[in-house]
Amino acid sequence: MPTNSVIAFFAGLALTTASVQAQPRSSTKAPPRPKAVAEAPTRTGSVANLPESTISRAEVESHIRFLASDELQGRRTGEPGNQTAARYIAEQFRLLGLKPAASIDGQASYFQSIAMERVKAASSAIMIVGKDTLKLGKELAVMTGGPADVTGEVLYAGYGLTDGDDGYKGRNVKGRIVVVQGGSPDAKGPGEIFKASGAKRKLAAEKGAAALIELYSESIPWGFVNQYFSREQISIANTTTGGTPVTHLWVNNANNQYKQLKEAGQTVTLRTTGRPRTPAPSANVAGIIEGTDPKLKEEYVVLSAHFDHIGVGKQGGSPYQSTDSIFNGARDNAFGTVSILMASKVLIQQRPKRSVLVLALTGEEVGLLGSSYYAEHPLVPLKQTVFDLNTDGAGYNDTTIVSVIGLERTGAKAEIEAAATAFGLGIFAEPAPEQGLFDRSDNVSFAAKGIPAPTFTPGFKSFDEVISKYYHQAIDNPESLDFPYVHRFCQAYAYAARLIANRPTRPQWSVGDKYESAGKALYGQ
Ligand SMILES: [Zn+2]
Repeated sequence: MPTNSVIAFFAGLALTTASVQAQPRSSTKAPPRPKAVAEAPTRTGSVANLPESTISRAEVESHIRFLASDELQGRRTGEPGNQTAARYIAEQFRLLGLKPAASIDGQASYFQSIAMERVKAASSAIMIVGKDTLKLGKELAVMTGGPADVTGEVLYAGYGLTDGDDGYKGRNVKGRIVVVQGGSPDAKGPGEIFKASGAKRKLAAEKGAAALIELYSESIPWGFVNQYFSREQISIANTTTGGTPVTHLWVNNANNQYKQLKEAGQTVTLRTTGRPRTPAPSANVAGIIEGTDPKLKEEYVVLSAHFDHIGVGKQGGSPYQSTDSIFNGARDNAFGTVSILMASKVLIQQRPKRSVLVLALTGEEVGLLGSSYYAEHPLVPLKQTVFDLNTDGAGYNDTTIVSVIGLERTGAKAEIEAAATAFGLGIFAEPAPEQGLFDRSDNVSFAAKGIPAPTFTPGFKSFDEVISKYYHQAIDNPESLDFPYVHRFCQAYAYAARLIANRPTRPQWSVGDKYESAGKALYGQ
């Protein structure tokens, strides 16, 4: 899911609303367990002697049954179940003999700790403007900030993105209530709108404003905005400033009904409880398998999968029964986490030419926090990171294939196809293109840095009721999985990783791709 939980939230909404309607009734009722085919994969001769063929269904199943067990309570970022999963993965790395890739207090460690925080929703907020009293929910949404009770003449600063003529005009706004226009000249989707909002908050804080009021009239309906901000969020703690972020509110100005706030001489009183924050420490788990080739071992292939999921009950943001409120996340993403564990096992048994960084990511469901943090704090130089084979899944409705998001764009098509074929699976490229999936999972944190990064995902061609039946639902548990298929998926993933790590040349973005220029900049071509 994309760079912050916002798009994930709105995309999730899109997923739940759009897919059921749009898609014709596909023939893929919960796929019957294809006994014959599943049990005897048509392995080609080429892999029979490879460790991939020794991966057993039982070990795949036992790992998944632990990671997606009720005991781990849906592995929500910042919660004990998430930390238990991280510990489990780290000890598997230790058992397999991977080298710790991170360090804590100078000590080698498998844990890349990330200071995160739980940001609770505001419980009250009012703003008095002339004879109007605006209230939390209907007219106001509190983005960040501590408790506040300020009265003063507001100052309008355009979009509030610069100190120039189209912004603050260099004015001193220390202790003032600043009003700005929502969005930005070129912000379109939720991600850009939120990104611009974050930049405004940063500048307002730097200029010492007492509060920031954003007049919101963008594309996302206010109902969604309100729903999003009345939920607890997880975010990466701002360790640089450390202090309480500036009090930042959005005002529902859909019909420009509060345009008077742009005029000089307006006095406003703002009172809010703000959004309480508590630490929610979490960690990525990372291990290294050193390559065998004296030259190529300086290059790294990343195998990434997020191990967090959405937790229990209300936390999950999805409907649930009182009888089952645990979002086990077997498909999303115990499936992928076990794939990187199995790949680790066989790649350390028979090392490839390039080195491999195995990276279990946290914080994906709350906005790709683990992968975006990693991209800013890489454990091996990004310049030497030549590929990221990410694996994540919303579910599957076709167990004869593996689907690959970004297959045509990231330069390792032949290897990925050969690996799937070797284990009796077909390849489907770019499933559900209307969903823009490439930019919605951890791979995009690598792609944005210029590293070719597709997502290797369980078989589906389009979203249908089988997918939405399990996507972020409490019934996404191990019992509902087709383990013979998961077994073959893990083997194909591990073999794809091997073939890519053994390539004579490193994969390249397809010409003209959105991320090609970032690749050129990173690798200095
Ligand atoms: Zn996922």
